Amino acid sequence: MSFSNKVVVVTGAGHGIGAAIAKAYANNGATVVIADIDSTRGENIASIINDHTSGTALFVKTDVKEQNDIKRLVEKTIHNFGEINILINNAGTSNFKSFYDVTLKEWDEVINTNLRSVFLCSQEASRYMRKNKLGGAIINIASTRAYMSEANTESYSASKGGIVALTHSLAITLGDDKITVNSISPGWIEVNDYEGLREIDHTQHPAGRVGTVEDIARACLYLTGEQNNFITGTDLVIDGGMTKKMIYEH
Ligand code: NAD
Repeated sequence: MSFSNKVVVVTGAGHGIGAAIAKAYANNGATVVIADIDSTRGENIASIINDHTSGTALFVKTDVKEQNDIKRLVEKTIHNFGEINILINNAGTSNFKSFYDVTLKEWDEVINTNLRSVFLCSQEASRYMRKNKLGGAIINIASTRAYMSEANTESYSASKGGIVALTHSLAITLGDDKITVNSISPGWIEVNDYEGLREIDHTQHPAGRVGTVEDIARACLYLTGEQNNFITGTDLVIDGGMTKKMIYEH
């Protein structure tokens, strides 16, 4: 699959899943805009892409909680590269603590980083996609926590459930403009120390292993490939089978 004429914006691309997604598009020839709140991480990934792949990268410091930052991100993308073909709404945060102690500020921080940002980035980017009449593709990174929970994860779970619903709503709205919108719900994707995982971490998964960032990156390429534009409004669960596993104790 070639993305050589494509301009791809990835939020939260300074680390983890977002960095792998940015690299995957760049390895397939795309121009990638790295949007992250952390300049050191973002500049680093942009340099790696520019030095070691066939693609081009530009870092734009962006806090996805801020509407003005998002407008600037999209304006800079258009100014530098003329268009925006693919948007990956990946930036996210969590704050797992006792439900009884969560403050309104903490709730808003998670909802605004994870969910409101998807609304704002998609609105801003799709205005340009529509104007250029080239269509486009949007992927929103949700989570299997949209469907199932551990205790004390309310704000994160609500934000991810919101993303899944926002995805099908946007898919219907943007269909006339030939923009596909899908979400991906990752399960456990180890972004820090994969080698340090325990055997039980892997074997509890029906697939026999914990997920990697490349598992998610490959799915993004698949869902945004032009020939796959019959896929819209769906959520792709990538979790090694964990959400299909019954856990009654015998
Ligand atoms: P990560 O913490 O490794 O990286 C997140 C990146 O987002 C960082 O570079 C961070 O600086 C950036 N970021 C945070 N707040 C931001 C903001 N306000 N504006 C711009 N950038 C911001 O995270 P990850 O594990 O790679 O997760 C990426 C996405 O995948 C998130 O939406 C997360 O909820 C989702 N997810 C991850 C897993 C997992 O197991 N890793 C599972 C399900 C869903």
